[in-house]
This record gives sequence, C-alpha cells and structure tokens, in this order.
Amino acid sequence: MMPEWMWPAASGKEPNSPGDEDLRMIPRWSMVLAILLFAGMQYIFHVVMPHHKHEMLPLRLMMGYAWGSLVASYALLLGYVSRDVKRRGMSAGLWMLVCVVLPGGIGAVVYFMLRQPVLSRCPNCTTEIAATYHFCPQCQFQMSPVCGECHRGVKITDVFCTQCGHDLAQDGAPARLRVYGD
Ligand SMILES: [Zn+2]
Ligand SMILES: [Zn+2]
Repeated sequence: MMPEWMWPAASGKEPNSPGDEDLRMIPRWSMVLAILLFAGMQYIFHVVMPHHKHEMLPLRLMMGYAWGSLVASYALLLGYVSRDVKRRGMSAGLWMLVCVVLPGGIGAVVYFMLRQPVLSRCPNCTTEIAATYHFCPQCQFQMSPVCGECHRGVKITDVFCTQCGHDLAQDGAPARLRVYGD
C-alpha cells in the first residue's frame, strides 16, 4: 500500500493500475467515431463499390476489414492524443490539427517524438512538476538528488558528484533521495 502522500491528491481520485489509466486515455467520442468509421468502410466496400462479382467477395472482405481497422485506429489515436496533450501541458488544438492534417499517421508519429513528459505533482503541495525539475517551484520540496556544491543533478547511487567531485554525503539530502544511509 502506498503512503497517503503519494496519491495524486489534487485530482481527488484513488490511484488506478496503469492498464486502467491507458484505457481511460481514450475518450468515448473517439470510440464511437472508430466504430462509425469501421462500419462506413464496410458500407463503401460492400454496398457502394461494385459487388456483383461473387468471386471477388474474399478480396472485398479483406479490403473492407483492412481499411476499416486503419481508419478506426486513426480515430482512437486522435482520441488518445486529445487527452494525452492535456496531462503533458501541451497545446491540444495545435497537436490535434497536426495529427489530422499530416496524412497517413505522420502527424501522430511527430507527436509521439516531440511530446513532453507527463507532468507529475509535488507530493507536498500538489503543484504541477515537469520531469526536469529538481525542486518544487512553490514549496522547495526536493524531487531528485542534486549536488550541494554545483547544484547539477546526480544519480541516487552516486557518492561523489560527477561534475565537481563534491562528497554528496555532506549535503544532508533527504534520506528518500539517497541509497546509502548514514
Ligand atoms: Zn510543492
Ligand atoms: Zn557538483
């Protein structure tokens, strides 16, 4: 069981497993859109396109399924991006546009390459914290170990600073940021 201060306090929700988290990242509208697009593709391949040749049926089924899944997954992807941008503090409108305008899923690829890390919250005051912060900007809660001499980031297992050689044991960093206790 996690201690109480590790819960995402500001959202007011209890922690969920990562699987739940990912599924909740896909909004309902994009699921509905995905089903509609899949059905629409079946309609195009089996009703709109010429369908009098029976020997072509397996090919039509295959094409309908392939195109249907393609456009449906595109809708799910858009839905995922629309939620993912928010928890990373990025511009939702801009990235939705990029994903829609750049064809063939290239927009989504660009998005996944350029997206910012998920914002976390300060365990002490729940301010939103980017992954690069060493300290909370609001309450000075220390998020990651830093050298007390040159203030660069160090690894939790380091005994000496890799940049200036400072003895990290002298810093009196909080015990949760140190592997080797006193
Ligand atoms: Zn804080
Ligand atoms: Zn240093």
